[in-house]
Amino acid sequence: MALYSARKGFNVGLTVGGINLNRGFHIIAGPCSVESAEQMNAAATVLAGHGVRILRGGAFKPRTSPYSFQGLADKGLELLAEAARSHGMISISEVMDTDSIELVAAKVDIIQVGARNMQNFSLLKRLAKQRKPVLLKRGMSASVEEFLLAAEYVLQGNDNVILCERGVRSFETMTRNMLDLAGVALMRRMSHLPVIVDLSHSTGRVDIVPELARACVALGAEGIMVEVHPDPQSALSDADQAMPLDDAVAMIDDLRPWIELRERLDSQASATSSPAV
Ligand code: PEP
Ligand code: MN
Repeated sequence: MALYSARKGFNVGLTVGGINLNRGFHIIAGPCSVESAEQMNAAATVLAGHGVRILRGGAFKPRTSPYSFQGLADKGLELLAEAARSHGMISISEVMDTDSIELVAAKVDIIQVGARNMQNFSLLKRLAKQRKPVLLKRGMSASVEEFLLAAEYVLQGNDNVILCERGVRSFETMTRNMLDLAGVALMRRMSHLPVIVDLSHSTGRVDIVPELARACVALGAEGIMVEVHPDPQSALSDADQAMPLDDAVAMIDDLRPWIELRERLDSQASATSSPAV
């Protein structure tokens, strides 16, 4: 496979809102769906207060059932953007079709393409023609190769692509999807793109997320995505995997020494490998 994204030297880092996503470990957190200003502000206040810099929230929701909450659309984008702005964060939200690219691009800092759209080639080609960074989620039955080739569609015109592993379908019933950490290691070897691991849609639960987050730090991933909610029981989508804010804070606090350890080990390794002057 001739991967354009494997040309590691061709870009030094994907920077958005002053954050270099190719360096360090980034936490993307926020509710599955934007529901209200109160919900977004409650989440943003706690998350920003604990160093989270990227706020998520779906405004156009790809729901399995047409009878489920479909998102607040334009209004949702505004509530997300406002909560992010007033807490010094950057925002990410999903675009589901070519018609709403302009609307989403005007409001958020990073455009998400969901698992169900990973091979929507007309959407990917249109996203290549605009400037906003694109976080591409792995399709639920896509191989690593198919995932990287889908990313190449966006890379044809837009260098700013982030890969997001979110688990693939399997026979396991205790987790929502099967988190493919081997795939993450492969993606990081095969391309220069930052790789974020979505621990909520991959597991469909809250309890095992903190230990998987530690695994992502050790693995070298560029970050994680986690769904959090100020009142998980009332969440209008994905309530079972919505992490309460207190748990999110505990996870972030627990993760900090692991991230610092990784930074220390990485800087020692680069000091010993750099040529003597
Ligand atoms: C989401 O992150 O809001 C989402 C719908 O995830 P996925 O596309 O991975 O199912
Ligand atoms: Mn969700």
